[in-house]
Amino acid sequence: MGEEKPRVTISVIKADIGSLAGHHKVHPDTILAASRVLAEAKKRGVIKSFYVTHIGDDLVLIMTHYKGVDSQEVHEVAWNAFQEATKVSKELGLYAAGQDLLSDAFSGNVRGLGPGVAEMEFVERPSEPVVVFMADKTEPGAFNMPLYRIFADPFNTAGLVIDPRMHDGFIFEVLDVMEGQVVELKTPEESYDLLALIGTPSRYIIKRVYRKNDREIGAVVSSERLSLIAGRYVGKDDPVMIVRGQSGFPAVGEILEAFSFPHLVAGWMRGSHHGPLMPVGLRDSRVTRFDGPPRVAALGFQVKNGELIGPADLFDDVAFDETRRMAQLITDYMRRHGPFMPHRLGPEEMEYTTLPEVLKKLRSRFTSYEMGYKPVVKTGGSSEEVD
Ligand SMILES: [Mg+2]
Repeated sequence: MGEEKPRVTISVIKADIGSLAGHHKVHPDTILAASRVLAEAKKRGVIKSFYVTHIGDDLVLIMTHYKGVDSQEVHEVAWNAFQEATKVSKELGLYAAGQDLLSDAFSGNVRGLGPGVAEMEFVERPSEPVVVFMADKTEPGAFNMPLYRIFADPFNTAGLVIDPRMHDGFIFEVLDVMEGQVVELKTPEESYDLLALIGTPSRYIIKRVYRKNDREIGAVVSSERLSLIAGRYVGKDDPVMIVRGQSGFPAVGEILEAFSFPHLVAGWMRGSHHGPLMPVGLRDSRVTRFDGPPRVAALGFQVKNGELIGPADLFDDVAFDETRRMAQLITDYMRRHGPFMPHRLGPEEMEYTTLPEVLKKLRSRFTSYEMGYKPVVKTGGSSEEVD
């Protein structure tokens, strides 16, 4: 019997713990504070390697270790890193310091406490390319469309047709975040069923993707929705995602290709607007115009003997200039709608913002009007019935 190879885990855990000049950008001192905690954890052997970075106002911890998914030790390290960074954030008077940390105490796992978590565990291939995606001013469902393109659309991913190792297709694990349920759907045979769900990205979120023939994990997304945890609007649930590339998975170029179309996502200003998802290099990972437009960065790593090698800043490339230009044009177009839908989100999504307070105030001023029929529609956002 051959020696069993150890399973390495990559954990990407992020939180908005405060930002410089509004919701714009992480302060470098908070990155340093978090890095110190991770360096100490590496010294103690809890984690094997790490990289601390940011997208917009979100601090992102990328770690490798051998403790498995949902490890209490690793989550505690991340929690402490965010706590230390929050201390600095408060000292500097950064905006919304500690915003995403919804609890004062760590209780074994950061899920449900505010930070977003994407983790996957696998046996390292001889060459193990992974791409870590980080988005700001949007929500986890923003990755639904690109994930479908990467793992199920042959017009994006030629390998689905050409590569026999991918030809059987993939399994998508989809979360219903409102009901707290999960379902698995297979592509290509259940593609239309899958699309029927994930076309509602505020509710149905692709959580994981597995290769069908051996159930090897290909992708994982953070699925935390802050408003559903806190019951009120806290901030948008800026997501992170890990995708494995090459050798039986889509090529890194196929993975990135899915972001060449700046599709409309929910988020942006006050988490209340639709805007284009603009792929950018880290140096452009700032959100200025109307706190946006929503951005996504992609860092490429190799994982070797449990160590992170890299990163490569994958969207820092002129090949995405036209995508960015299109995103800017869409930004102009959407902004001109001002407070109107579909720029502003629909009533269901606005329930978790401050709009219902405004609408409530107006309710008492309404008087009855003979419509000639009995109205049955619920009023948007205020969750009161028309009587
Ligand atoms: Mg953010």
